[in-house]
Amino acid sequence: MPDTTLTWLGHATFRFDTPGGKRVYIDPFLNGNPKCPESEIEPERVDVIAITHAHGDHLGDTVALAKKHGCTVVAAVELADWLQGKQGLENVLDPNKGGTVSAGGLKFTLTNAFHSSSNNDGEYMGEPCGIVVEVENGTKLYFAGDTCVFGDMQLIGRIYSPDVAILPIGGHYTMDPREAAVALELLGVKRCVPCHYGTFPPLVGTPAELQQLAPDVQVEKIEPGDTVTV
Ligand SMILES: [Zn+2]
Repeated sequence: MPDTTLTWLGHATFRFDTPGGKRVYIDPFLNGNPKCPESEIEPERVDVIAITHAHGDHLGDTVALAKKHGCTVVAAVELADWLQGKQGLENVLDPNKGGTVSAGGLKFTLTNAFHSSSNNDGEYMGEPCGIVVEVENGTKLYFAGDTCVFGDMQLIGRIYSPDVAILPIGGHYTMDPREAAVALELLGVKRCVPCHYGTFPPLVGTPAELQQLAPDVQVEKIEPGDTVTV
């Protein structure tokens, strides 16, 4: 089986292609994302979208993409209800933290995250989440979503043993490199793809700072549009 290829589209937006040929988007903030490569703004294919919370820089183009591509959307229950009831999406899976759902032959588990979650109208959209995705060959990717570090990341490491952690490092709205270094220690992962930095002026954390604080972890210093193999 081939590996999973994970492509950063700037901010907290990723797409990945799985060994079984599925194309998944996490937090597809494409239009309006100043770091999204031009060639990635109109996806040609989407099989599954999973979203961590309802803030505009994460919900992004979810509704339009789901309508256009007829893909499955995975979101925490209140956000999922809103997507179905108010936005008219059909294929929505609505787990909550600790729950696992299958979409496209992949497993999506929602984890805890400490942040907030309302939509652009200020409506309550349930709690923000992290997402562990297990692909066909057993590789596990942990998308922390927007969060500070928290001690129970140790449980995420213990239960799911992610192969790679995708962590926010910009600071201001989420953890910064100092907290992310502790997160990596708690998770016990050896590889990190940093995100949620450099998009807007307050998000000042850098991968170089994180690498210095977490010398034993491979911190990927990629640019938007770059791909890593997991
Ligand atoms: Zn955010």
